[in-house]
Amino acid sequence: MNPSGTPYWWTTAPALAVPEAPLPARTDVAIVGGGYTGLAAAREIAIRGGRVCLLEAETVGWGASSRNGGQVLTGLPIDAGTLIHRYGRQAARAWFAWALEAIDALERLIADEAIDCEFVRCGHIEAAAKPSHFDAARHERDLLAREFGHEVRILPPADAALELGSEGYCGLVVDDRSARLHPARYVRGLARAAVRAGAGLHERTRVRRIEPDGAALRVETDRGVLRAAEVIVATNGYTGPAVPDLRRRLVAIGSYMIATAPIPADVALRLIPRRRVVYDSWNLLHYFHLAPDGRLLFGGRATFATPSPRALRRSAARLHADLVRIFPALAGVPVESAWGGQVGIARDRLPHAGRLGRWHYAAGYAGQGIAPATALGRALARRLMGEAPEDPPFTLPCPAIPLYRGRPWFLPAVGAWYGLRDRLS
Ligand SMILES: Cc1cc2nc3c(=O)[nH]c(=O)nc-3n(C[C@H](O)[C@H](O)[C@H](O)COP(=O)(O)OP(=O)(O)OC[C@H]3O[C@@H](n4cnc5c(N)ncnc54)[C@H](O)[C@@H]3O)c2cc1C
Repeated sequence: MNPSGTPYWWTTAPALAVPEAPLPARTDVAIVGGGYTGLAAAREIAIRGGRVCLLEAETVGWGASSRNGGQVLTGLPIDAGTLIHRYGRQAARAWFAWALEAIDALERLIADEAIDCEFVRCGHIEAAAKPSHFDAARHERDLLAREFGHEVRILPPADAALELGSEGYCGLVVDDRSARLHPARYVRGLARAAVRAGAGLHERTRVRRIEPDGAALRVETDRGVLRAAEVIVATNGYTGPAVPDLRRRLVAIGSYMIATAPIPADVALRLIPRRRVVYDSWNLLHYFHLAPDGRLLFGGRATFATPSPRALRRSAARLHADLVRIFPALAGVPVESAWGGQVGIARDRLPHAGRLGRWHYAAGYAGQGIAPATALGRALARRLMGEAPEDPPFTLPCPAIPLYRGRPWFLPAVGAWYGLRDRLS
């Protein structure tokens, strides 16, 4: 296999035509980065009558927002027990409620803007890879019900075939509230909605530097200079040297996916009968679901390295081997595309938003960013426009990571540590 790196999603979403326009000299708000965070913020500011100019280094949606697994999951990147232990019951409840509301708000936004992105409340399955993981899942189920009033169902191995046609797991958790969507259709639809509201989008406009300029900020780009009263940095896993202060707080980690050729309908029905989205409990996890056209979309942390042709080749081969181990019936089904993207992870693995010096940011969604990035982009915009949403991600500091300036030298060791924990747990 010699993967081109083009995401399956790009070839199955209508193209987005963003006309090239000169940069204005001034704007109320400049936004750096054109994924869910930046676009959701741009739309919100424009709806409220603000002048907003979004600057994207590549093309709109080019980053993780058009490359991801399409799983809109309940919960947060850390489990309920850790959340309560770290922040106390009240704060944990606020975080959990915020994450659930983010999905409801995403569904409403998609309906209001009539974005054709295959959004469906299909529910998710978490597959326990080891008996100890299944015990932990039962404990988590009790905690979710008791502390957050959130009900999920446990399926022991004997009943698992009702939901997942794989012998590779030791029991399942099913949560009906999760959803899936087509990420590239969603991000491009969100961009159209932002433009309709009056936002200006500028592609191939990399921001090089942001510096104070009297009461305003001077934003230096490849295509000229812009002055803005406020700046939102929405670069998440692609945060680079233009914003060293944010870069020190986020680690960019690679996540990879493959898409198979269409699977015959009778086989697909045996593999994932209710077409839910699935992820498993390994630290180096797998996530997968069936696309409407019958392809299996399968992703995972095959390597933590950021995408390169070598990392892509190695991860595609490893993901395919894992896929066949989980679903031996798919051994003969070819892989048609493979790609990777970067997620941004903060030290506490939770999303964060707020102010760094003179500008604002929202980032750190780990592998769970579709609903949270949309919600935080909107909340940040509302704050800039004079409202005061108190979403939990504004309440915690996002500390710099010790001995880290943007080159994640420790990732091979972290990957090896997680691999070891998977073998020993
Ligand atoms: C393979 C993969 C699978 C994932 N699966 C899921 C999933 O199933 N469910 C889920 O909820 N989340 C998932 N995620 C995470 C989710 O995709 C992200 O959290 C979300 O897309 C982040 O959106 P964003 O707008 O903050 O950042 P991005 O979409 O990454 O956008 C950042 C943008 O900033 C631009 N940029 C960077 N620097 C500059 C600069 N100097 N000037 C101008 N522009 C700049 C980049 O070009 C990029 O387009 C996954 C991510 C990956 C990579």
